[in-house]
Amino acid sequence: MSSPRLLFCTATLLFSLTTLTAEKPFDFASTPGKLPKTVVPEEYAIRIAPDLGKFTFAGSETIKLNVRQPVRELVLNAAEIEIASASLDGKAVPQSAIKLDAKEETLTIALASELPAGSHSLELKFTGKINRQGQGLYYAPYQEQGTGAKKIMLGSQFEATDARRFFPCWDEPSFRARFQLTVVVPENFTAVSNMPVEKETKVAGGKEIKFAVTPPMSSYLNVLCAGELERLSARLKNVDHGVVTTKDKVAMGRYALDSSQQILTYLNDYFGVPYPLPKLDHIAVPGGFGGAMENWGGITYYESRLLFDAERSSAETKQNIYEVIAHETAHMWFGDLVTMAWWDNLWLNEGFASWMGTKCTAKFNPDWEVWLSKNVPRDPARRHGIGKEAAMEGDARSTTHPIQQPIANEAEASSAFDDITYRKGMSFITMLESFLGEEVFRDGIRQYMATHKLSNTTTADLWNSLSKASGKPVGEIAAAWTEQPGFPVVKVTRDATGKITLTQERFTVHFPKAPPLEWKIPLTYSISGEAAPVSLLMTSKTVDLPAIPAGRAVKLNVAGAGNYRVQYDEGSWRLLLAELPKLSSADRVNLLSDAWALVQADRAPLSLYLDLVEKLPTKDELAEREQVMHVFDFINRLLAGEPRREQFQEYARSILRPSFEQIGWEPKRGEPTKIALLRGSLINALGALNDKELVTGCRERFEKYLSDPRSLAPDLRPRVFAVVGRYTDEATWKKLHELGKKTTSIEEKQNYYDALACALDPKLAARTLEISLGDELPTSRAIYLVAKVARQSEHPDVAWNFAKMNMKKLLAKADALTVNSYAPGLFTFFSDAARISELERYAKSDLPPTAAKGVEKAIDEVGFRVEFKPRLGAEIANWISEGAKKP
Ligand SMILES: [Zn+2]
Repeated sequence: MSSPRLLFCTATLLFSLTTLTAEKPFDFASTPGKLPKTVVPEEYAIRIAPDLGKFTFAGSETIKLNVRQPVRELVLNAAEIEIASASLDGKAVPQSAIKLDAKEETLTIALASELPAGSHSLELKFTGKINRQGQGLYYAPYQEQGTGAKKIMLGSQFEATDARRFFPCWDEPSFRARFQLTVVVPENFTAVSNMPVEKETKVAGGKEIKFAVTPPMSSYLNVLCAGELERLSARLKNVDHGVVTTKDKVAMGRYALDSSQQILTYLNDYFGVPYPLPKLDHIAVPGGFGGAMENWGGITYYESRLLFDAERSSAETKQNIYEVIAHETAHMWFGDLVTMAWWDNLWLNEGFASWMGTKCTAKFNPDWEVWLSKNVPRDPARRHGIGKEAAMEGDARSTTHPIQQPIANEAEASSAFDDITYRKGMSFITMLESFLGEEVFRDGIRQYMATHKLSNTTTADLWNSLSKASGKPVGEIAAAWTEQPGFPVVKVTRDATGKITLTQERFTVHFPKAPPLEWKIPLTYSISGEAAPVSLLMTSKTVDLPAIPAGRAVKLNVAGAGNYRVQYDEGSWRLLLAELPKLSSADRVNLLSDAWALVQADRAPLSLYLDLVEKLPTKDELAEREQVMHVFDFINRLLAGEPRREQFQEYARSILRPSFEQIGWEPKRGEPTKIALLRGSLINALGALNDKELVTGCRERFEKYLSDPRSLAPDLRPRVFAVVGRYTDEATWKKLHELGKKTTSIEEKQNYYDALACALDPKLAARTLEISLGDELPTSRAIYLVAKVARQSEHPDVAWNFAKMNMKKLLAKADALTVNSYAPGLFTFFSDAARISELERYAKSDLPPTAAKGVEKAIDEVGFRVEFKPRLGAEIANWISEGAKKP
């Protein structure tokens, strides 16, 4: 699954190397979970008839059971489902024997006599709800392309634990079974599921569609979408590729369809086991949920993550689409064909899909520099799967957790979908692949797929396959990275003779007295003047490097591929600064990221970072500039309302303006994509830094756009609108709002509403907030508007007061992944201590215990800002006054 928002989890701090216990390979009987493992479903035949007037559905199912040992009751999952009748082996079960437990989300059927081991058949008739939010079966209202008519589409979202809202089932990932779905829909509807349609029959009030039976899979991978849909398709070898959209949008699926074929061909070869289903659909859903979900054979996407409009979409959208398709398609193997046994191993799915998706994207689109861009934090709302830096920032805090974390119950399962699972997981795999070698690593993955297909695994199974392929003790190296929280910093000291000593310790930010930890670090370093980098496995606290000639610079963590920080002593740092022009851009980005992290950790003054920025040899390297813009943006927001802010803005503009002047306003024919991306980012950054000339330029271009939309390149539109929106007056606010209401393009709509969320005028910010309660935006986007206002308008107080007043209505629009983190997330934009106690009070009185992790994370973030703000303010003043003294 990919999600635009992330939740954060608490730390388990008591780990140390000595307590790491080897995890066991997959074993069904000892896999965690609530349901007894004595009864196993083998095949479900499910029939669902939705009532689109009442937003309910009637269902029936027959489940073939394998009873492994005699039982007196059947226990399965059901939530918000009512059971009309049940029968076992054709005999009716009395209503008194049927018990639904709403809290446990279980359905228990007590049996009159002991059910002997062997095959049995359970039949259930039931009713359920069609939700407004993306949980279980849901409906997404939308305006039809062209006509603007109001329509609805049905969609489903079951990961992690919501298949049980659609039909009673053994809803834990290790209970694999075959599923055959039948659905009754209106005559003018098309329905899509995991498998192709097997049979279609006319029935009263519409038609009945029966899909082919799936291979054995986990319940959360089922899918049903239905509506007035169109399908663009192409056949490649044995697989029918499709892109499914609402009416008249299908042409925008061309890019996705072409990408899908390229990606599937690559993955078929990489995994060595061909994609096993007869078709693969990519389904665009105009609301309901905001991300993408890897339902086997029927992947769902929030519409703007799949559809590319050559006239209106930006280069960034194009990249995001490719990356999301690659990520989700990788899940067809990693997640679907082979599934993690339990949610504690979610990283196996997500870390791997993030890595594989990036690898595949990089291979076919080298000019996008996707690996490099992973090393720069970006606004997560705008970019899927951003990388390592965001994970490392979270992983340095007290609120982090190991990649593999205990998930005691299903309520915690959704908290596993966070930065650590996705991005640290990806980052560790990247490091491991470079340590084992690309081909050896791939051989191990092929072996893993062949051994475990159509089954479940734990992380230990992956390490076993990689160990066999490489002959290296992968599990031993990996343990500290996946079973401990945090990561190391490697300190470099060089004595008078030139001898270099490396020492590792845990790297933390705003986390005094963190338990010390150690890692086995796959290290790389390069020596100036020598071509080949050197690799070594650092297995102890301290290690000496072989002698290096005096005066030669040493750069650790080549291209930033490793998941650790490096802290150089002064002499080593000076040598590196002198080498800057000769280093690769990836290495310079790595130095910038580490320098900024050292400042955050209070291990170095801000001058270390700013000195490096001023010495960068070029002004138009995308990843380097984006790293700098990210830091300047953080400082600029932190200093909102502070007397030193204006001085900082002037300084930051002086660094970034020359880059913008060098590349100019107008896109040039045939220029590299990265320059187009850099232009957009610079407009954004300079706009936020109150660059008067740039703001005027944006206003002029917006005016021209109103009369001639073609005058403004699609790449620049979201950026120009955002700057216009930031400094908007009431009349322009209304204009942006009108444009947003009018368009039926989800991407364009988002651009306008994002611009509204930027308004600095608190009265206009308040009006933007009101929109989140209405029906103008899909639910998942509507509730985000509040977080966007909190961040962009620089009035987190206005946003929070609004959210507090309307929390019930807002949460009614949230999906399962968002509910727990929504309220605490809004606090992370504050930087005053009083907000910590306010959140603590609010959590006590208004939030469920499941929100605790989100609350802890938000409190840590506010605490960090409270500490960092005065320190940063003083150091900025120093740096600027020192600079003024320079000749
Ligand atoms: Zn995923």
